[in-house]
Amino acid sequence: MTTPTYFDYDSQCWIVDGHVQRCGHPEMMNCQCYGRIHEGEPATAEQKKQWDDRLSALRTTCHVTY
Ligand SMILES: [Zn+2]
Repeated sequence: MTTPTYFDYDSQCWIVDGHVQRCGHPEMMNCQCYGRIHEGEPATAEQKKQWDDRLSALRTTCHVTY
């Protein structure tokens, strides 16, 4: 099983290797992005589920294509 890297559309942040990635905004901007607040935290079950759903969606698409 590979460690997934994907964009979580609900939280608007990147998940890299199963951990929340910090947003790319400058330090002084004081943004309240999910990635800023939860940087380095492990992906939640909900975020993992979102990834699983996307994988199964891809598989479904493949089957439809053939
Ligand atoms: Zn930000």
